[in-house]
Amino acid sequence: MVSQGGFLTGFAAIAGGGDGTVNEVLQGVVHTGTALGVIPLGTANVFAREVGIPLDPLRAAELLTRAEVRRLDVGLTSTGRYFLLWSGIGFDAEVTKQAELRFKRQLGILAYIAAAVRTFFWFEGTRAQVALDGRKFRRRVLLMVVANTRLYALFPLSAQTRPDDGLFDVVLFGGRGFLTKLRHVLGFFAGKHLQLPKVLRFTARTVSVFSSRPLPVQVDGELIGTTPMSFYIQPAALRILLPPTAPYGYPDGRLNLGARASAAHDPSPP
Ligand SMILES: [Mg+2]
Repeated sequence: MVSQGGFLTGFAAIAGGGDGTVNEVLQGVVHTGTALGVIPLGTANVFAREVGIPLDPLRAAELLTRAEVRRLDVGLTSTGRYFLLWSGIGFDAEVTKQAELRFKRQLGILAYIAAAVRTFFWFEGTRAQVALDGRKFRRRVLLMVVANTRLYALFPLSAQTRPDDGLFDVVLFGGRGFLTKLRHVLGFFAGKHLQLPKVLRFTARTVSVFSSRPLPVQVDGELIGTTPMSFYIQPAALRILLPPTAPYGYPDGRLNLGARASAAHDPSPP
């Protein structure tokens, strides 16, 4: 049995665990020369699935010996916390809070499912002011996801999301009421949520959320606080060990971030 945690080798910090463990190790390696390696030992292992790290820990460890060092963007919150996958404001953070209150360790994924079902019925979000690179608007926020990577839980949030374009992908699930929430959930599981009228998608480098009633905030599945909060993209701030087949990552070494960031807006591949 391998215990969860991180350890340091010469040039890499290896996170053996789930996405929460990866997030903890991330805090120490962003903006340093130390590369992050991941051996998935968690429940969902969203990051490993996203980049094609084998879910079998022994195969993942073997792969680390011939991995490529690349760079990825990370997110930074105004509370000083880095994240690799996404931050969620509203519904998913409330579910995280309720699941932690209700015996997450003993019940595991069941605690989340039970909390999600209960929270679905009463949670109505709140009106908030959102600023995207300074562009401000007001909307009711049931859930807003500030995403660095494509998979949200185990489903794609948006096909365009990349952790190497210098931009957050922001998806806002708005509106209120039982039918609206039901449409959001069914649309999400069908992969058609971006076509719904109360769902908006944006890209931005800086995102801020203010609300008179605080909304809970999670990063990489860990509850970290409440709104108001801001989120800043940190382009190429993480050195990471990835499978040679991984579809993402700036090559390590000479970087041309400006070209890559503008290529993100170009419909033709770079
Ligand atoms: Mg991005």
